[in-house]
Amino acid sequence: MSTTIRLAIASIFVGALVLGIKTLAWWLTGAVALLADALESTVNVATAIAALIAIRVAARPADASHPYGHHKAELFSAVLEGVMIIVAALLILREAYLGFLAPRVLDMPIERLLVNGLATVPFGKSPKFVQLPIKMHHSTSTAC
Ligand SMILES: [Zn+2]
Repeated sequence: MSTTIRLAIASIFVGALVLGIKTLAWWLTGAVALLADALESTVNVATAIAALIAIRVAARPADASHPYGHHKAELFSAVLEGVMIIVAALLILREAYLGFLAPRVLDMPIERLLVNGLATVPFGKSPKFVQLPIKMHHSTSTAC
């Protein structure tokens, strides 16, 4: 198994782990920001799977049906990722819009937010549990 294939498989597992933690954080808090994060992670996992398939197909040698090889499989994977990012963005915008129309007070003790921190800090993203209390304060103050 090539290093590229091993890295692609590892990225699927890491993505699935992050997705699981972010989904748990959203389930515990009900925060739209965490739902958006989980949707983005769903795209990461799906596109990592598509990338693995594309890498394997692209590595095949040329044959009678594909005399120039199978490299275009990677382009299909890239297009799929672009489409999925757009779909996730539209879903996130929808959730944000609905949350804007019907704001609600969030129940987010720090230990629940730390669950999301588990998913973000080890993988190099900004810790959203630091940003969220500011957003919570803003959304609750406009509701009063
Ligand atoms: Zn072929």
